This record gives sequence, C-alpha cells and structure tokens, in this order.
Amino acid sequence: MHEFSLAADLLNVARDEARRHNLASIDRITVRIGGLSGVCIDPLEFAFSFLRKEDPMTEKTGMVIEQVQGRGVCSTCGEEIELEHIFLYCPKCNTPTVEITAGKEFLILSIEGQEEKAESQAET
Ligand SMILES: [Zn+2]
Repeated sequence: MHEFSLAADLLNVARDEARRHNLASIDRITVRIGGLSGVCIDPLEFAFSFLRKEDPMTEKTGMVIEQVQGRGVCSTCGEEIELEHIFLYCPKCNTPTVEITAGKEFLILSIEGQEEKAESQAET
C-alpha cells in the first residue's frame, strides 16, 4: 500500500531530523498534503498510527495534516480554477491548457519534540 511507504518515509525523515536536534521523542509532526498529491488521508493516518509504535521516539507522535486545495490557472484564458482532481480541461474555454499551481505538495512543515535533557528531568 502506497500510504504505508509514505508514512514510513515521514517517520524516518522525522527521526533523522529529531536526532540532529537532540530530541529524545517527537510530539508532533505537521505535514502539508495537497489535494492533487494522490495521497489518501485516512490510510495515511492509519499507517502512521501503526508504524509509529515501532520506535520509542515516535510512539506518541501525533500527526497534524494541513490540506491544500488543488488550484490551477488556464494559460489560454487566464481563468483560475479550483481542482478536485487532475482534470486539465478549463471549464471556461474548454482548452486543455490548465497548469496546476497548487495541490501537489507532500512535505513536512515542522517537527516538535522533547529534548534529551528535558526528558531525563521529567523522569526523575
Ligand atoms: Zn481557459
């Protein structure tokens, strides 16, 4: 399943980033997902909640998803279009010259966690 490998990638990137910043655990990962990225939110969340348990660092990590509406602009008539899917005919002039301007994103915006020191203090 496509979303399983995406969730695994997200977690791997987040863990690398967390180690670089001396984080002992990750509280939250914020991701931006475009409506045209082909990523399904529900399976991604399911895969994420399953895979995060594999590492103590991400055991309790939450995922915040910022969804981005797909948008395009017609290079023939200049019409700006909201796209629900990759349908590249302009609804105004019916020309297949729509260029996607937003909605293909799939990226990590931020990673928040607990630093090593804060964690050990909290435990004592
Ligand atoms: Zn047009």
